[in-house]
Amino acid sequence: MRGTVLAAIPVNMLLGLASILVAYRSGHGALGAAWFAASTCVNLLRIVLCRIPCLGLALTADMTPSLAATAARSVDRHLRVCTLAAFLSGLVWACQPLLSAGYTSPETLFYLTITCGVTAGAVTHGIAYARIPIAFIALPLLSVSVCLTYAGDFDRNCLAACVVLYLVALTHTAFRSQAVFREASRLKNEAHALARSRAEAHASASALVDEMRWRATHDDLTGLLNRAGFLQAAESRLHSGTLSLLLLDLDGFKFVNDVYGHKAGDRVLVEVARRLRDALPENGLAARLGGDEFAVLYDPATSGLAHDVMAANFITAVAHPFDGFDAGRLGVSIGVHAGPEPSLTEMLSCADEALYAAKAGGRNRFRVFDAGLREGLQMRRDLERDLSQALVENAPRVWFQPIYAADGHTLVGLEALIRWEHPRLGWIAPPDLIAAAAMAGLTESLLRYILEQVCAMLEILRSRGLDGVRVAMNVSPREMAQVPVDEIVIERLGLLDLPPTMLEIEITEETALDIGAVQGKLQALSRAGIRITLDDFGIGYSSLSSLRQLKADRIKIDRSFVTGLGTCDDKRGLVLAVLGLGRLLGLDVVAEGVESVDDLHILQAMGCPFLQGYYLGRPMPVEAMEDTLLVTRIAAA
Ligand code: C2E
Ligand code: CA
Ligand code: CA
Repeated sequence: MRGTVLAAIPVNMLLGLASILVAYRSGHGALGAAWFAASTCVNLLRIVLCRIPCLGLALTADMTPSLAATAARSVDRHLRVCTLAAFLSGLVWACQPLLSAGYTSPETLFYLTITCGVTAGAVTHGIAYARIPIAFIALPLLSVSVCLTYAGDFDRNCLAACVVLYLVALTHTAFRSQAVFREASRLKNEAHALARSRAEAHASASALVDEMRWRATHDDLTGLLNRAGFLQAAESRLHSGTLSLLLLDLDGFKFVNDVYGHKAGDRVLVEVARRLRDALPENGLAARLGGDEFAVLYDPATSGLAHDVMAANFITAVAHPFDGFDAGRLGVSIGVHAGPEPSLTEMLSCADEALYAAKAGGRNRFRVFDAGLREGLQMRRDLERDLSQALVENAPRVWFQPIYAADGHTLVGLEALIRWEHPRLGWIAPPDLIAAAAMAGLTESLLRYILEQVCAMLEILRSRGLDGVRVAMNVSPREMAQVPVDEIVIERLGLLDLPPTMLEIEITEETALDIGAVQGKLQALSRAGIRITLDDFGIGYSSLSSLRQLKADRIKIDRSFVTGLGTCDDKRGLVLAVLGLGRLLGLDVVAEGVESVDDLHILQAMGCPFLQGYYLGRPMPVEAMEDTLLVTRIAAA
């Protein structure tokens, strides 16, 4: 409304100005000036009214209802005052007949035209609020009509009637325009509100997207990058220089978690992350890849820090005591990869290889990936690549090593040991073969493959009536945890109709580390009549509890305590202790690694019930074993 009034007033003033000019020319200069002065005063009043603040115009959506009602009332009041001012302005224009002797002077045409123009203009402009233009036009047009009627002739009477009609038409138009304006305003307000709410929705959606993006690339606990975020960020920097990659793995973290609880473990991780960040060169990347494993990528050239200095810095940073923990418990091992590599994946596996070597060397060490490690890595990769084809071609063979009773002559069992001569790399150490199978995802295939050959040996033994000879098959902790060993073995024996009592499974203490995953399987094997032997006994750290948890029927003393028994009192003490333990708990004891006649005699003197070793018999292929069976005294079933 204010806008339309303010737009109409200059036109109003211009027409007023033209009126006094005409009045002056027709000899009514003084009257014209007085009229114009009155008109100007009212117009000024109207301008002021349109400019003064109005509480209602500050109306916002979040006003309290009572404040909103007050605001609405103030708008009503303001409109009424403005309508009154328009009426006053109309009153001034209604006085125009004074300048033209009641529309009878020769200037009548001019004044009539001006009045029609100003009233039409008021309605065309005043679309927002109809009452104001109507208040303005009513008096001038009525005064025209009255004066014309009063002047009396037919033409003028007709014109007077037309002016009344004109007034009615303008009034109608004013209300129509107001309705259209209100509808348009409503639509505009709605559109604004919609745009505002869409903008708000967009803002909150973008905030959510940002948050999700952050979570997808960062570790919640430490705020460092997570694996995905690290790979992404590292990939984009790979070609910007020769970068060094450090993989860090905490030493002793499991101890903190086990002894002090997971909350304390989390605090350690957060603190380690903080120390890494502090020691990190500018533009370096630090990430928590998972568990207690961290990664750092940086450019030694721009930071001026060589990778060995950097690794030593991290080791020192982590070595500082942590609040509330025994100093020196925690440490970090670091694998470093420096120099160009074709891809990030390659850098990671090289650094991982170095980390593995660092860990094997002890705590708080770093190892830089070098030619030696590259050779080892390459060999493992060749193994992984070639193993599945080798299994198809039946290249790996299971050999058997005899196990004897205390006399050293009576055969009581065999241990199945895998052998593979790689066409290029030569004989592969069984632990390397097992590890390669794990890396190649062939753990279960290899287990089934070995079981097949073990079962073939069981069939040979049974066919010769040698049911008393048991065959021991090694099952690694990983195989035990990841493969349904119990189901596979029991099903296979059942299918071939082989007695489970002829089979023995050798496991190591490490199997107990994931006791939840293996206990059920061991129980099932045990229930089926298959014996469980705890291998490499004596080199672990929790032997007694493992014995109970793993349901072992037998223990096999590790060969490091057996070989050279005669030359070392410590070994003798340990073997005696294990033999005593076996008697006490009712467990069979096997000594492996009998390499000399001395070893044999000492073990016999100690009363060791079962013996295995190169002195008594080396591992041999099936055919050689079959020959041996022909010439050996065999234990009765
Ligand atoms: P293990 O279970 O302790 O097997 C005994 C190892 O000692 C065998 O080495 C055997 O050849 C060797 N050995 C036997 N008597 C003597 C001796 O008098 N002196 C010396 N110095 N060594 C002797 P091998 O065959 O190289 O196997 C090494 C390890 O690889 C095994 O240790 C076992 O942990 C693993 N392994 C071997 N075959 C298999 C298999 O089929 N499956 C799984 N999961 N692991 C296997
Ligand atoms: Ca074994
Ligand atoms: Ca062993």
